[in-house]
Amino acid sequence: MSKVHNFSAGPCILAPEVIEGAAKAVKELDNIGLSLIEISHRSKEFIAIMDEAQNLVREILDVPSNYSILFLQGGASLGFYMTALNFMKEGGTAGYLNTGAWSKKAIKEAKMVGNVEVVASSEDANFNYIPKEYPVSTSWNYLHLTSNNTIFGTQIKNFPVSKIPVICDMSSDILSRKINVADFDMIYAGAQKNMGPAGTTLYIIKNDFLGKSGRAIPSMLDLGIHADKGSMFNTPPVFAIYTCMLTLKWVKENGGLAAMEKRNEDKAALLYNTIDSNPLFEGTAAKEDRSNMNVTFVLTDDTNKDEFDKMWNKAGISGVKGHRDVGGYRASIYNAMPKESIQVLVDVMNEFANKFA
Ligand SMILES: *Cc1c(COP(=O)(O)O)cnc(C)c1O
Repeated sequence: MSKVHNFSAGPCILAPEVIEGAAKAVKELDNIGLSLIEISHRSKEFIAIMDEAQNLVREILDVPSNYSILFLQGGASLGFYMTALNFMKEGGTAGYLNTGAWSKKAIKEAKMVGNVEVVASSEDANFNYIPKEYPVSTSWNYLHLTSNNTIFGTQIKNFPVSKIPVICDMSSDILSRKINVADFDMIYAGAQKNMGPAGTTLYIIKNDFLGKSGRAIPSMLDLGIHADKGSMFNTPPVFAIYTCMLTLKWVKENGGLAAMEKRNEDKAALLYNTIDSNPLFEGTAAKEDRSNMNVTFVLTDDTNKDEFDKMWNKAGISGVKGHRDVGGYRASIYNAMPKESIQVLVDVMNEFANKFA
């Protein structure tokens, strides 16, 4: 079988070692005669896995000791609602930066809980840039950001310095670059873009930010309860957490976030340079806000679109069709995407340009 170059936006590419390790553990975990998915989450084996996953997050992201690290369920989509429920006070207001489809969903859920002020929005330009100057009121309970806009291919490069707590959905660029966790009161991220399979969501929460909403919160949505119980309030998604742990190990063994960031910049530059140097292609995001994870582009002329689609298909490329809200193409080039696969796409683009320019 020839190699498939997996550019899927999510769930998406994982390192081969991670897939291998996960498959092995499903058969049998560390020579204990049992599968990872048939042992108690309270067994010493699984408790060690949970501890290791949390410790690796703390080490790799340099998480301060006054933050809790949780692996929960419900996806980032439940995180939208839980964020508001746990951190918006009765009658309180939160500020939201609207930079794309996921921000909009976060806003929609928060409005069910309290008052939302949209501080700025790039919706008028189909979310092709990140608004940078906006007012923030010190009376708000928090400011909510989306670090990387998976669908529109934009990414916040410099996080705003804020006087109020900042909560950030980092689902599609967690572990892709260095961040200063202390700048955020909460970070959350669905695992399935850069960290593991679908099924778990990482929360990194400043402990003294918890428990202040004054609301009655159902147990399963109460981040304070999950923090108290170390992500073991109910049965955690053991397979997803194990596989995230393998990815975290892989990140560490491959040089940590500094190395990931450098590699990701290098990979993205290869693709963006091809788009920019070629009149048949056009990037859809403002240059200064371009994502290093999701590269969105269109053909400047659709006459030979079928030909281009045939060419990348034939080269073994999968998952580059753009989201319906943007059209064109989206190449998702997460941590595990090797530069060689991007080179295959670049070669196809150059071949297409030579043929039709
Ligand atoms: C994919 C994605 C989500 C949704 O994640 P689920 O885990 O499917 O709920 C939220 N935010 C961003 C930025 C995403 O890319």
